[in-house]
Amino acid sequence: MILKYPKKFYNFVINLIYPRYCKSCSILLKQDNIFCNTCFLKIQPVAPIDLQLNKSKKTIVFAACNYKDPVKKLITEKLYAKNTLACKQLANIIYQNTIIKNLEIDYLIPVPLHWTRFAKRGYNQSYEIAKHLSVLLNVPVLDILKRNKKTAYQSSLKLEDRVLNVKDIFSIKNKNINLKNKNIYIVDDLFTTGATIKNCAKVLYQLKPESVNAIVACRVIQ
Ligand SMILES: [Zn+2]
Repeated sequence: MILKYPKKFYNFVINLIYPRYCKSCSILLKQDNIFCNTCFLKIQPVAPIDLQLNKSKKTIVFAACNYKDPVKKLITEKLYAKNTLACKQLANIIYQNTIIKNLEIDYLIPVPLHWTRFAKRGYNQSYEIAKHLSVLLNVPVLDILKRNKKTAYQSSLKLEDRVLNVKDIFSIKNKNINLKNKNIYIVDDLFTTGATIKNCAKVLYQLKPESVNAIVACRVIQ
């Protein structure tokens, strides 16, 4: 028999058993969050940047913040594990710290994981972030990119190797999809050299959309 408790009561009981603390300052949290409001407001926004793909095409990258604590902690500690609360909070940070709510967005396209990595982890953090953004922005998620080969984690490689690591590894699952006149946005958690976003954007431009831009939670600023 499945008992259905009201969600508020359920959360109350969960908080009694597993109290939540702010991952940055360790204060006890009343709400189902990763950071308290004070720490959340300390997260500094960063300016959008242009990634030039070729002479005529470019991709603008909207990032919510620099790759620094407390958000860095969220990503490095893989707090997404088991529940996707961290992804939800990253989506909230993106929504609050960028101008994406004022943009014309037709589709959100998550950066895919290789299937073996997906099987091991059980979720794709980019897809989870895109799903939460989809609710906030009322824009559909279009999961059309495929990762053809398993690559080493970008963060474990030297700068020049990162560019080679992601070359030609993405393809389109469904080439019949019509993206003409559409403004599409790639979604990822972390932007390091831009090699991943660049390669995804080049592949997506083959479908002749109006524009391909990107939304990321953190951007590494050297
Ligand atoms: Zn805090």
